[in-house]
Amino acid sequence: MIRKMGDANIAKALKSVLERISVASKNRSEDLAAVCPEPRLVAVTKTKPKEMIIEAYKAGQIHFGENYVQELVEKGTNEQLQKECPNIKWHMIGHLQTNKINKVLSVPNLHVIETVDSKKLADAVDKFWGNKKGHKLKVFIQVNTSNEENKSGVQPNEASDLVGHVISSCPNLEFVGLMTIGAFDHDLSKGPNPDFQVLLRCREEVCKEHSLTLADVELSMGMSNDFEHAIEVGSTNVRVGSTIFGARSYNK
Ligand SMILES: *Cc1c(COP(=O)(O)O)cnc(C)c1O
Repeated sequence: MIRKMGDANIAKALKSVLERISVASKNRSEDLAAVCPEPRLVAVTKTKPKEMIIEAYKAGQIHFGENYVQELVEKGTNEQLQKECPNIKWHMIGHLQTNKINKVLSVPNLHVIETVDSKKLADAVDKFWGNKKGHKLKVFIQVNTSNEENKSGVQPNEASDLVGHVISSCPNLEFVGLMTIGAFDHDLSKGPNPDFQVLLRCREEVCKEHSLTLADVELSMGMSNDFEHAIEVGSTNVRVGSTIFGARSYNK
């Protein structure tokens, strides 16, 4: 299905998602709300043209996510996009291979890599980023909470060890939280999404083992079909694509 979305529609869809985020935030328990006053919306623009990004940016959106290295580099280094979206913050949310790190790190407004899932990758990103930029690069540790072989991410019981490695051995990286994709087809009528519960338990363990508070460890979880539930159980960073920009068509 190819759906054309006009500018007004993007602004409208964005506003509607932000309203739903706000309502979900108010449904949280007081202690969750205290940990994260305002969950962040990352607008996921994979397969979508730069014009849509520019429109969303003009409507006030700052954080954008891309999955594919090539696409992130093309959009992130595009002259028009850079000019029209000077303060855009890019989130790399797709699997990252060691041999593509320098490409991703060359994107001017790279804000965070959400998909660090091994010591090898952490070490390589740390080394390539170096200490010349004057600030550390933010990273999430991606956890494979659904134990699916085709999903990337560190196993839940190895997450805390990897966090420790980033904290103690990667001086150019700033550990900001845990990320999961999780199973796509969870039926909420059967109870809370178990993937999100696994990520919550990982956070508890990380906090205990590394003397961090809950507020020190963000949770990136929740997409178009489950972001409200994710926020209600503690997400601080939701990644929403198709609800804002329309269904994706891959046969471009
Ligand atoms: C595509 C993607 C999203 C957004 O998915 P939608 O269902 O379109 O909201 C979020 N996170 C990751 C990692 C993705 O690949």
